[in-house]
Amino acid sequence: MSKRIRIVQKYGGTSVGTPERIRAVAERIKRVHDQGHELAVVASAMSGETNRLLALGKGMSSAPSPRELDSLVSTGEQVSCALLAMALNDIGVPAVSLLGHQVRIQTDSSFGRARIQSIDVSRIERAFSERCVAVVAGFQGVDDDDNITTLGRGGSDTTGVAIAAAVRADVCEILTDVQGVYTTDPRVCPDAVKLDRISYDEMLELASLGAKVLQIRSVEFAKRYSVPVHVRSSFDDSEGTWVVPEEGSMEEILVSGVAFERDQAKVTVEGVPDSPGVAASLFVPLAEASVVIDMIVQNVGTDGHTDMTFTVAEADAASTRAIAEKVAKSVGARGVSTQSGLGKVSVVGLGMRNHAGVAARMFDVLAHEHINIRMISTSEIKISVVVDNDKVDAAVRALHSAFLGPDAKAVRESA
Ligand code: ADP
Ligand code: ASP
Ligand code: MG
Repeated sequence: MSKRIRIVQKYGGTSVGTPERIRAVAERIKRVHDQGHELAVVASAMSGETNRLLALGKGMSSAPSPRELDSLVSTGEQVSCALLAMALNDIGVPAVSLLGHQVRIQTDSSFGRARIQSIDVSRIERAFSERCVAVVAGFQGVDDDDNITTLGRGGSDTTGVAIAAAVRADVCEILTDVQGVYTTDPRVCPDAVKLDRISYDEMLELASLGAKVLQIRSVEFAKRYSVPVHVRSSFDDSEGTWVVPEEGSMEEILVSGVAFERDQAKVTVEGVPDSPGVAASLFVPLAEASVVIDMIVQNVGTDGHTDMTFTVAEADAASTRAIAEKVAKSVGARGVSTQSGLGKVSVVGLGMRNHAGVAARMFDVLAHEHINIRMISTSEIKISVVVDNDKVDAAVRALHSAFLGPDAKAVRESA
């Protein structure tokens, strides 16, 4: 037998999407269990189930209580975990399903986007010592008042990595429906290439910019607690992508990935007085209304006035506009305009720290495709542009081909 290690495996929705898939996953778990390793498993809801439950709740009430919505959507994971534990028992693997409150995955009370504060590992440690597989429900926790909470879309990744950190696992395997982390979403760009390794920081950027293969909070946990994360396919045994601390050679790569997000809206407050406190008077009420703001751009003021533009998810556009109009009136701004149907495309790479020219090349590529750039934002290791929703795919493919395709070498050398 190879050295005994401690493994946490997280299976995503497609991986447990049907009874047949659950049986296949049980066989995979059995193989690891039979090798003598200590194994805990986190499961997502069967694919489509979380969306179905959300729609059911929203059909019941136009403004469902966030507490009840969490109570509702958390049931998807209860089903898949119980089914997986049954399938394991059937093939002779002792297994027990555990919900968030049974493990005690303690979170804050922000329903729909709760943060994990602590995990009681005693029940999982007991399962390890009894050679029983703990099958833990992803995505859910419990607050101080015993209310059920959920961790935001894609939150089972975070459950997996947080448990791996808490039990000091040797590896957290994220088993999903692609072979690993790619240079961009392989469903949008067929030329996307699987990465063998990616740094925590690059993965943080990609996840925050829309690459949903890992939820951003799972990468934050992995980085903070140095959990080695292995993203790989649940459909075969091939090696996937390791998310690891930065290595020297990573800096040599100018652009490591292209990420995108659809369905964004841009809100502009026009003719805002250019004086201290005006930005706060706009963004404080938006924060209080739990609106997540993405890019913010303030123009250079002329005649004591300026324009302030920011982006939000399209779903928040109407409520954002209502708040912005109220603020505009109270600070004496000229008015508010909004534009929906936008998307954001970003290029990410550690190598950008030391190279000029990436932005210029990016804008040139988009110009060639006749894609209009509506906003730009940069950081040390990424450049993002806002474009029309229906141009997102073309922008992703063109940028991927320029920076990461077969002809990209010349670009790297000239930058
Ligand atoms: P799971 O249900 O296993 O959690 P998700 O659908 O949440 O799976 O995440 C996997 C999906 O992420 C892939 O099917 C792919 O379409 C998408 N994706 C987006 N960007 C990337 C990327 N850079 N690398 C791999 N997959 C990506
Ligand atoms: N089931 C949840 C979702 O669809 C959590 C997850 O799959 O990670 O977002
Ligand atoms: Mg996911």
